[in-house]
Amino acid sequence: MEKMQFKAESKRLLDMMINSIYSNREIFLRELISNASDAIDKIYYKALTDDSLTFDKDSYYIKIEADKDNRTLKITDTGIGMTKEELENNLGTIAKSGSLSFKNETELKDGHDIIGQFGVGFYSAFMVSDEITVISKALGSDEAYKWESRGADGYTIEPFEKDHVGTEITLKIKENTEDEQYDEYLEEYRLKAIIKKYSDFIRYPIKMEVTESRLKEGSENEYEEVKEERVINSMVPIWRKNKNELTDEDYENFYQEKHYGFDKPIKHVHIKADGTVRYNAILFIPEKMPFDYYTKEFEKGLELYSNGVLIMEKCPDLLPDYFSFVKGMVDSEDLSLNISREILQQDRQLKLIAKNIKNKIKKELESLIKSDREKYEAFYESFGRQLKFGVYNNFGQDKDVLQNLLMFYSSKEEKLITLDEYVSRMPEDQKYIYYATGETNEKIAKLPQTELVADKGYEILYFTDDIDEFAIKMLKSYKEKEFKSVSSGDLGIDEEKENQTESVEKDNKELFDYMKDVLSDKVKDVKASKRLKTHPVCLTADGEVSIEMEKVLNAMPN
Ligand code: ADP
Ligand code: MG
Repeated sequence: MEKMQFKAESKRLLDMMINSIYSNREIFLRELISNASDAIDKIYYKALTDDSLTFDKDSYYIKIEADKDNRTLKITDTGIGMTKEELENNLGTIAKSGSLSFKNETELKDGHDIIGQFGVGFYSAFMVSDEITVISKALGSDEAYKWESRGADGYTIEPFEKDHVGTEITLKIKENTEDEQYDEYLEEYRLKAIIKKYSDFIRYPIKMEVTESRLKEGSENEYEEVKEERVINSMVPIWRKNKNELTDEDYENFYQEKHYGFDKPIKHVHIKADGTVRYNAILFIPEKMPFDYYTKEFEKGLELYSNGVLIMEKCPDLLPDYFSFVKGMVDSEDLSLNISREILQQDRQLKLIAKNIKNKIKKELESLIKSDREKYEAFYESFGRQLKFGVYNNFGQDKDVLQNLLMFYSSKEEKLITLDEYVSRMPEDQKYIYYATGETNEKIAKLPQTELVADKGYEILYFTDDIDEFAIKMLKSYKEKEFKSVSSGDLGIDEEKENQTESVEKDNKELFDYMKDVLSDKVKDVKASKRLKTHPVCLTADGEVSIEMEKVLNAMPN
């Protein structure tokens, strides 16, 4: 039988590439810059094994030039360039990646990682341009060529003049239409922002002429606008630097530059993981709650980079909801991306990273409790509620992660304490962790129900937040000690002498019957109490739901 090859309608395929892969048009610049960076990296790698080549970092750069009058955007690089064949193969064949072949043939090291792999990024430029011209001169070649295409109709290649090795790509930017704006891709501020956003950590300088206003010579208050070539990207990602080269201030600057928040983070965590999954991450624990934290607009997530190129601004899968306040970024070369270079939802690596990060944050917060109590309390003031919601929403599943991070006000210490602190000072005869609920600490302190427990010398946790008791019910116990509300029926305290109350009830039967009668369906029973000292009466709840919980449940909209 004859084996047939699939045919593809290349025009339609190209059209699909251009219009359906990417959700965001601005990434065309990310793709072209990534290609330029790859082209420079290739010279770098060649120089490692070829003695006739030297790699002097300073002579390699990427340049962006916008020309509003001619509606062109030019991306120039001093990379390895393309021969006539390479122009044909790499730009004339959809899904052909010269970079992937290069990667497979070369041993990569030093964290220089070629970005390209799918062979489609280049065509994203057709999202914003009608016509693309590529002029390229390959390393070691005397000839240069011009490749030109208007998209679906195909392309032309002809010899051309070019002095330097490298590639120059000129996009003819589309005219604005009624629905679509393209002018922005010729605007300096917009281009700068796109470069910063996606390509800030490209290792080679991305140069662009920018307009700056400065004092006129000889004048003290007159300004003039001058055009000056500047390097737009920061190049070295701070997460690739050694931790001991970096100061707290460096991290704080990064936090501000990235607009993670307006506050000063209380802690930064720099992770360099080199195990089963390789990634770098810088995480921040903010001090203050973002103003939109409890609104629908708030989106949790970390920035996700693959080889220093931004893939996703807020990757939600990297953080559990209860750590949604954490800000920062993750960079990994091990992620599986789809062809539009978005992360795959079910990526195994991503799951591993998320789990790692979760445990790391937990450890950092736990150590903060010990090392800087004041800071932790400030943090807890902002985000403690989130942690308690975490316990509740996960049905106690992530108990191990969260239980040591919780804090409650203590009757004895008159400040916030952890459960560990509570349990570690429990007297031997104390069976339960006692808590009382109420509106404020002052009100709880006056509750008759607390009397017996307090009299016994036991510590009581005061729950003033709606969520407290719900969360604790999910935990059930801490270090094998169960939680017990001071208003529950059986407090587990020996002094509650059965006989005595029985006789009191018997001797005053008439009075008790009368009270039951008057209160009728408002109470289930009226009993002599074993726990009151100075108060005449108190209410207790017998079931799973305490009086306070009942109040919260009743207040919820149905
Ligand atoms: P990818 O980068 O995923 O390989 P692209 O469509 O972005 O796919 O690019 C296709 C190929 O074209 C690249 O693999 C590379 O071989 C070549 N190429 C693109 N831009 C350049 C450039 N500026 N310099 C040299 N080669 C380039
Ligand atoms: Mg590419």
